[in-house]
Amino acid sequence: MALMETKIHILPEDLCNKIAAGEVVERPSSIVKELLENSLDAGASDILIELEAGGKRLIRITDNGCGMNRQDAFLSFERHATSKIRTDTDLFALTTLGFRGEALASIASVSRLQLKTCDNENGLGQQIYAEGGKIKNADEVGLPRGTDIEVRNLFFNLPARKKFLRKEQTELGHAADVVTKQALANPTVSFRLKHNDRKMLDLRREKGVRERVAALLGRSLLPDMLPVEWQSGNDLQLTGLISQPQLTRSAASHIYTFINGRYIRDRVVQHAVMDGYRHLLMKGRYPVVVLFLQIDPAQVDVNVHPTKHEVRFREQSMVHDFIAKSLQQTLRSSEWLTATSLETSTEKKDNYSSEQQVQTVKQGQIVEVGDSVRELESHYSQPLKSHQQNQFISKPAEQQFTNFSQPLVQSESQYTLPGSEATGFFTGLQILGQYHQSYLLCQDGADLILIDQHAAHERVGFEKLRHAYAAGTITSQTLLFPEVLELDFNSATALGDNLQELASLGFEIEPFGGKSFALKAIPQLLENKDAVKLVVDVALELERVGRTGQLRESIDEILILMACHSVIRANQALATVEIKALFQELDQIDFKANCPHGRPVMQRMTLLEVERLFRRH
Ligand code: ADP
Ligand code: MG
Repeated sequence: MALMETKIHILPEDLCNKIAAGEVVERPSSIVKELLENSLDAGASDILIELEAGGKRLIRITDNGCGMNRQDAFLSFERHATSKIRTDTDLFALTTLGFRGEALASIASVSRLQLKTCDNENGLGQQIYAEGGKIKNADEVGLPRGTDIEVRNLFFNLPARKKFLRKEQTELGHAADVVTKQALANPTVSFRLKHNDRKMLDLRREKGVRERVAALLGRSLLPDMLPVEWQSGNDLQLTGLISQPQLTRSAASHIYTFINGRYIRDRVVQHAVMDGYRHLLMKGRYPVVVLFLQIDPAQVDVNVHPTKHEVRFREQSMVHDFIAKSLQQTLRSSEWLTATSLETSTEKKDNYSSEQQVQTVKQGQIVEVGDSVRELESHYSQPLKSHQQNQFISKPAEQQFTNFSQPLVQSESQYTLPGSEATGFFTGLQILGQYHQSYLLCQDGADLILIDQHAAHERVGFEKLRHAYAAGTITSQTLLFPEVLELDFNSATALGDNLQELASLGFEIEPFGGKSFALKAIPQLLENKDAVKLVVDVALELERVGRTGQLRESIDEILILMACHSVIRANQALATVEIKALFQELDQIDFKANCPHGRPVMQRMTLLEVERLFRRH
């Protein structure tokens, strides 16, 4: 048979490497990421990153890790050459950042790369130079233990890709971002970043993530960051720092999440974080979050993306709920810190007599706050409430988790019915009066406290409703004269599809022909005149969410609407007894630092701040 000419042919090795490089090496920062991962995998405790022209001209990374011997140094340039895994089962027991064995080969194929490495204390190491992936020369040279890789002229042999590189400053920004992420995840490693010989970052070794966060994101954030420390069973653990709801950013770029020490930007995790802050933030605001999830490597697949930014969980919703609930639990007590911002407490100690020991009252229990961050941290990481203890500490692993996965509203709501004696932060305030019929003025020690009465009521109403809904105890009142609602087609369909659910919210609604409904009973909490408007709002909300059974998701939104309609507004005079009743209620609920829309409930001004206003300091 004559040899036929084929259309299909196998690509040459160096072209394969260039194609692979397209996935791994997008820009200088991708190289910084891969090389940093290699240094960390090599156990380095000191890493120096030097860039020129944003990394476009030079990227050089020097580490004091384990280094490589002569043979390994050569092998490291080969594609699919790795010391980190051997069999496919290793893929699901990864303890290293790298494992694909293609970074060095890919980087070398699109640059001029020099590797210097030494794996011994005798001072004899290897130096290998490659251009476009082809080794040009190799020598034995005197070197300290560790590895030093220089990547010059990125994409010199791929001019088309080179055109996509951005301005020096932009590329530098991306690279610094990569260093930031690795540095957050590895506080015990020192990182130095230089650009065009200028020192950009100089991070010494730290004991813990707190100091690293201070060094990287700003020390001033610390007083507003809450430590997170939760565990579920033996193979899920969440630690780190998250901002209190009043500390926000306009973009999600300050949400740093890590899984088993690897930075990831995962949709599920991101969603879980925002879920943890649900109803605490204004629209378009994002928290500052540095979170580390430790999970059994068998439960997560990191090999779904060439740069390993995304992962796949075996039990996605379990991980999601664990993260969301851990954050909710942490934030639940956020008013605790609001009530004694660290600055305030130290200021007080410094400036006023020591008898003014700062105290916070939490669920009737007095906690003395010392002036050191550490002390506060240790207070904080202890379970504050008995129900937390039940849930996270004292139960056997199995049960611990079952409990944890229950919806928050059902298992943990703290609302106790009015009438029971409550003592707490708000009831402990000295009431000075009302300002502009909207704000309550109070005194706490030497501090002035301003409370937004509308926000406070909304939060109370919302928590009450949420509790009652979960307990199935929303009571309704029958209307003497049913109200007839006329809706547009879409709202009518949405409402008609959800009459059952609405009944559990206290609304008795019956179809009244066409697009009309008869409203026969409404939740007791509501004023008659508000009810019709509210049902229209609810119908719109249902329509927005769609009829595909997403009601559970939007129940909270509906409860917020209901709370909004049921509460005291601004511009309403309040008698002292009414204020006291409000405070009683505030002390009995969780999440009291913000209204359900995320607006703050209270603001604090220290005596010092007031004195500054009058130039007394
Ligand atoms: P991977 O990290 O996926 O194994 P790489 O191409 O990044 O693949 O690296 C190939 C191998 O080279 C690594 O498995 C490791 O053994 C070795 N290596 C790379 N960089 C270093 C370093 N800085 N120190 C010590 N060994 C290194
Ligand atoms: Mg690697």
